[in-house]
Amino acid sequence: MKKKVFTLAKEIGITSKELLVKLNELNIPAKSHMVVLDEKTVELVLSKLTPASTSKKTKSPKIEKITPVPVKEKAVKTPINRQLHEKPIAEKQEPQKPIIVARPKIKINETLTIMQLADKLNVKAIDLIKKLLSRGIMATINHRIDTKMAELIANEYGYDMEIISVYSEALFEEDNLVEEKLVHRAPVVTIMGHVDHGKTSLLDAIRNTNVISTESGGITQHIGAYKVKLPKGEVVFLDTPGHAAFTAMRARGAQVTDIVVLVVAADDGVMPQTIEAIDHANAAKVSIVVAINKIDTPGANPDKVKQELAKYSLVPEEWGGKTIFANVSAKKGTGLENLLELLLLEAEMLELKANPDRPAKGAIVEARLDKGRGPVATVLVQNGTLKLGDSFVAGIVSGKVRALITDKGERIKIAGPSTPVEIIGFSELPQAGDTFHVLRDDHLAREISLRRQELQKETKIKHVSHITLEDLYKEIQKGEIKDLKIIIKADVQGSVEALVDSMERLSTETVKLTVIHGGVGHINESDIMLASASNAIIIGFHVEISTEISDLAKKEEVDFSIYQIIYEAVNNVKLAMEGLLAPKLVEVITGKAEVRQIFKTSKTAAISGSYVSEGKITRGNIIRVLRSGEIVHKGKIDSLRRFKEDVKEVTTGYECGIQITDFPNMQSGDIIEAYEIQKVLQKLK
Ligand code: GDP
Repeated sequence: MKKKVFTLAKEIGITSKELLVKLNELNIPAKSHMVVLDEKTVELVLSKLTPASTSKKTKSPKIEKITPVPVKEKAVKTPINRQLHEKPIAEKQEPQKPIIVARPKIKINETLTIMQLADKLNVKAIDLIKKLLSRGIMATINHRIDTKMAELIANEYGYDMEIISVYSEALFEEDNLVEEKLVHRAPVVTIMGHVDHGKTSLLDAIRNTNVISTESGGITQHIGAYKVKLPKGEVVFLDTPGHAAFTAMRARGAQVTDIVVLVVAADDGVMPQTIEAIDHANAAKVSIVVAINKIDTPGANPDKVKQELAKYSLVPEEWGGKTIFANVSAKKGTGLENLLELLLLEAEMLELKANPDRPAKGAIVEARLDKGRGPVATVLVQNGTLKLGDSFVAGIVSGKVRALITDKGERIKIAGPSTPVEIIGFSELPQAGDTFHVLRDDHLAREISLRRQELQKETKIKHVSHITLEDLYKEIQKGEIKDLKIIIKADVQGSVEALVDSMERLSTETVKLTVIHGGVGHINESDIMLASASNAIIIGFHVEISTEISDLAKKEEVDFSIYQIIYEAVNNVKLAMEGLLAPKLVEVITGKAEVRQIFKTSKTAAISGSYVSEGKITRGNIIRVLRSGEIVHKGKIDSLRRFKEDVKEVTTGYECGIQITDFPNMQSGDIIEAYEIQKVLQKLK
């Protein structure tokens, strides 16, 4: 007799799910408990599944966590009916009692197709397609299903659904840091410091010492990072020195550095970028080893450098501190071995561990398009072991490892933790800072990359979203922000210090304000990237921001504001914390005109024959006059003329005569910039 899966399961005394698993093991295709099995199959199943064999606990998939409800009279197990919303089933021998079960949860990722959803729900794809059709959605089994719709459908079948973002770590194998599997891994080092203090020279010097001492003698390749072998261990150096690259990688989600070597020239001492580097390393919570370079120079004064650094909490051990210092000369090659040994010592204290026995995970350190080989990128394996043939996803691209090449130009088959290795096999070019994951399922790798590409196109996903002053109060209320990080830029050191002090004093019980970097100078790229990587806001005082940097801030979603009065800066942050932020005053440039000729009309007045190059110029506009980029006058437009006639406004591409009160010194070549102060209401709820 033909039987449906659930009827047969009931007869045998197991759940439908268990029976489906058994059928699967017997290679009998059956996807749902409603599938009708033919007579032969029923017999086969009955012969195989004697009570003895069924009593063995079948391995049930994770998603099935329903407690069967015992039926009083009969000693038969109630079949699990997941389709609670389906009509009662005709073959039932006794009236179905309402079954109250805890809704099982299924986890799905954003790449889900109809077929996969059907699988997860254990129903036929065709049923899902019908369901979608009844909602006016035409789809085939390979169509990707909108996560909202998938959730609705899953609910109908009695499931709760958890959607895993295609950027979530949960998609990949867990880190699995099981103690017994962990091995020591080599430290990864970035060299930072002020310009010309010898970062590049030091990187080269270390690489060269090593090449001579290695037995392999391969040709050094520039792959973005290199490994140095020492009798006591290995050290990996990232090839791009400086904090810009370091922080840009962090902003993209990759933190690869374990130790920063801070290079300070013994004949120059602590300079602005030295301080920036310290702040960037601290923001990333990376430990610092100081290399005092250029000790060969006549003006070298390592003790002075130590004293200066002590102000930044980098105190040498001999003075009771914890920081490791090394005196080196990149030029003469002095002290390099000692520096390397000290790095191993620091690494030992950091107890860097990894599990080589899992699929590789890491970060892209460099990527380039090679003429012959196509997209090539260097990945730094951070955990696990990377093997030839592995499928992977890196940022929005995927691929399969076709070749692995080391910094010595050797082709290898596997690369363990803390190994930089060049990979051939990318579908397209990834970006430095992209995270890299090996997946056991190459379909999934491709799907994740496709979905990430789609999301990027839709720009729907913001996998980083940064704090703004506007949202501060909301985030505080939600309890999502407990630590407001601030970057301060001001025109003089005194103001930096005053602001740092006042800002940190605004800390309350719920929110702690921390200035992660304070410096003298205009807001620059490195400030934006540090803010982006650390989720900080930028406060400027008597400084400027160029259009380019302000565009970058917009792209990185970094909030910055510039003030002319310290009190205003402090008060604004305070108000933002209290949710009382007043409308923001923004300057909007409405027009620009280039002065071409001056006509003196009297001793104190002149008309500037000008050409409107942008926007429009209107009579009564407030303006400023720029000479070689410097503001030389602020005032108002008194009269505006075209061909001797007074006009109200002149637009782009036309010439006009502009008269400005109290500014007889206009020169040809000056730029008149008209602007408005607009109030922007800040969204606060
Ligand atoms: P970076 O800007 O920090 O990468 O600095 P570079 O490595 O380009 O070095 C800047 C200058 O300092 C170059 O002219 C180097 O030759 C010189 N230099 C670097 N290290 C040393 C050193 O140990 N001793 C001396 N005397 N000069 C050095």
